[in-house]
Amino acid sequence: MFGRGPRRSDNTKYYDTLGVSKTASEDELKKAYKKAAMKNHPDKGGDPEKFKELSQAYEVLSDPEKRELYDEYGEDALKEGMGGGGGPGHNPFDIFETFFGGGGFGGGHSSRGRRQKRGEDVVHAMTVSLEDVYSGTTKKLSISRNILCKKCKGKGSKSGTAGRCYGCQGTGMKITTRQIGLGMIQQVQHVCPECRGTGEHINERDRCTQCKGNKVTQEKKVLEVIVEKGMQQGDKIVFESQADEAPDTITGDVIFVIQVKEHPRFTRKQDDLYIEHSLNLTEALCGFQFVLTHLDGRQLLIKSNPGEVIKPGQHKAINDEGMANQDRPFMKGSLYILFKVEFPDSGSLSPDQCRLLETILPQKSRKQSTDKELNECEETTLHDVNIEEEMKRKKQQRYYEEAYNEDCDEDDDDEPSMQHVQCAQQ
Ligand SMILES: [Zn+2]
Ligand SMILES: [Zn+2]
Repeated sequence: MFGRGPRRSDNTKYYDTLGVSKTASEDELKKAYKKAAMKNHPDKGGDPEKFKELSQAYEVLSDPEKRELYDEYGEDALKEGMGGGGGPGHNPFDIFETFFGGGGFGGGHSSRGRRQKRGEDVVHAMTVSLEDVYSGTTKKLSISRNILCKKCKGKGSKSGTAGRCYGCQGTGMKITTRQIGLGMIQQVQHVCPECRGTGEHINERDRCTQCKGNKVTQEKKVLEVIVEKGMQQGDKIVFESQADEAPDTITGDVIFVIQVKEHPRFTRKQDDLYIEHSLNLTEALCGFQFVLTHLDGRQLLIKSNPGEVIKPGQHKAINDEGMANQDRPFMKGSLYILFKVEFPDSGSLSPDQCRLLETILPQKSRKQSTDKELNECEETTLHDVNIEEEMKRKKQQRYYEEAYNEDCDEDDDDEPSMQHVQCAQQ
């Protein structure tokens, strides 16, 4: 007898996990699982528990029989049906691979009738300097990877054959049949624990001496990574099929992702370069010249035109001294120079020097006020101020005031903490 009345309380969790409604179609389930599993895959930094939950939920809901059972009796009924107390939950990675490995459902079968998986890509960040991407360079990087054992050609045995796993008769999968009451029988398929899905059993004496039956050995390899002129942050350099080899697996790629270090002098925006250069007041007014060492070590002489006055904040451009364009290496961007002008410090000019300067520089403001007008004015004092810090302080003050006002307004809010998080992001 089925010793328990139907329970309907615990049959929504799986739908919630996948974020679909209880009437979701097979297609909707598939899409929801695929999207969530990609996001939560542990190899991509996802939470393994969450990934397992997703796989469990999908495993049950994608099977019409199990789904019906779950809808009717909830998760517990399924647990009983699975035996061994393990509950629903086969290898979550297997479920994932049916989506993303070896051509999806039904595709890519090997001679043994198992699908050929696609191995993981190995992604490395590669830090380069701005000089490296300005001129282009080659970097040698040593990697260590698994390759199929050369001695046994990845078979794992001396004889080149492997016996069948007794646990699963070579299928790699086990089927458990279980009566779950009221004449209902449930069949559940899961990966054979004895051979971990390979379907093989290699006799201890027949094991390859090189790889000890593991089928793979380690190899050290040096890759020459060519960093092309003009490469950008995030550009990828791909070495196809250079990731770990494994039996019945399409070898993944080794991928280097370019990370360009910040440069103390040059800033890059697409194909253009930017620098700042400070002039003193004499240079700004009477002319200047300076030598700039470019990213490839060339010395550029940079000078003003005769009679030219440079104003603070003014830009100048030098054509063709920017970065090479990656697609058209002969096209180069510009080098932009932002000029800053340093003025003499207060007190560094004596009254005599000031009078001398006044004879050269433009006259003081022409509109002179009369004594009478001045007498009617109010006296003021100028204070030194750091305007950026002043603004920061004022902003903070406003924020605290707003936060305080909100506390008073929203006593009846259900989720006051959420409100605050949103405020903080504004
Ligand atoms: Zn071997
Ligand atoms: Zn087995």
